Amino acid sequence: MNSHRKVIIIGSGPAGHTAAIYAGRANLAPLMFEGEMAGGIAAGGQLTTTTEVENFPGFPTGISGPELMMAMRAQSEHCQTEILTKTVDSVDLSVRPFKVTVENTTYTADTLIIATGATAKRMGIAGESEYWQKGISACAVCDGALPIFRNKALAVIGGGDSACEEASFLTKFASKVYLVVRRHELRASKTMQDRVLANPKIEILWNTDPIAAKGENLLTHLSVQSNKTNEQRDLEVAGLFYAIGHIPNTAFLNGQLKTDETGYILTEPGTTNTSVPGVFAAGDVQDKKYRQAITSAGTGCMAALDAEHFLT
Ligand SMILES: Cc1cc2nc3c(=O)[nH]c(=O)nc-3n(C[C@H](O)[C@H](O)[C@H](O)COP(=O)(O)OP(=O)(O)OC[C@H]3O[C@@H](n4cnc5c(N)ncnc54)[C@H](O)[C@@H]3O)c2cc1C
Repeated sequence: MNSHRKVIIIGSGPAGHTAAIYAGRANLAPLMFEGEMAGGIAAGGQLTTTTEVENFPGFPTGISGPELMMAMRAQSEHCQTEILTKTVDSVDLSVRPFKVTVENTTYTADTLIIATGATAKRMGIAGESEYWQKGISACAVCDGALPIFRNKALAVIGGGDSACEEASFLTKFASKVYLVVRRHELRASKTMQDRVLANPKIEILWNTDPIAAKGENLLTHLSVQSNKTNEQRDLEVAGLFYAIGHIPNTAFLNGQLKTDETGYILTEPGTTNTSVPGVFAAGDVQDKKYRQAITSAGTGCMAALDAEHFLT
């Protein structure tokens, strides 16, 4: 196969596939490395870990996450993208063309689009894998409006801005929201703290750790334990939302692109330009604010157009 490309795309979520569709239609014959359980996520990205996606435009009655990603993959191939089910081990951005190393084979590219996403942190409590997507989620904005959570008590884990925002958001649907906080204070900004403290539907459980998810087919209870007194109790909840952060999949870059302190790639506002000309970043790997399929797809489109512009 041709090991030199005008465009190599790393990652296969909505950002990577949208970039592939645009680059393919621009006759750039892109090569995509879709990953093989990279960052613990199957090819196709985070949406392969969810059931219904109800907020992606074009699907009035929703579509399953895996089905949506299979359709995006088919569209990328239809647009002349070559897809390899391999995880990129490293890149060399100090040379032109750029080098991309995968299982001891080196590919070269004039431009690179990094769309490797992020992985939501989990806690590994008892029952977590059993009730994942059966009451446990890592995205309140994505899943909070699902019927299984309506008018039920829910729990959010975390004490930062995301946790406070998710807890406030969930009060639109839930009868009550427990905010389970490990410490005796919130890390969130003062405004977010005030919003949470003033919300009568939110009860904060300070100095508390979640220890087990329990239920039958769906989650029904969360066991929590005080880290001060060791006292345990079972909360009757239909939903458990982790809001303890994400890990952007940027380790393979080995510090060659500028990132923020938590590893998210920094892009020039309004573009997908990174700190290295010719390398573009799209999707959750450079976005810790919106983190949605549609925003990832949007920046994937931008990255392909930015790469096309760079090449000409
Ligand atoms: C449980 C859950 C439910 C969600 N539900 C919704 C929803 O209903 N609606 C919505 O809009 N959003 C939802 N989201 C958010 C949405 O999934 C993400 O915003 C979106 O998938 C991000 O897309 P992305 O293209 O940036 O990357 P990702 O989807 O994260 O995909 C990146 C891909 O790149 C691969 N990769 C990583 N490193 C490498 C490497 N070195 N080499 C090759 N490949 C690599 C990864 O394995 C992964 O497959 C949900 C997220 C979760 C976790």
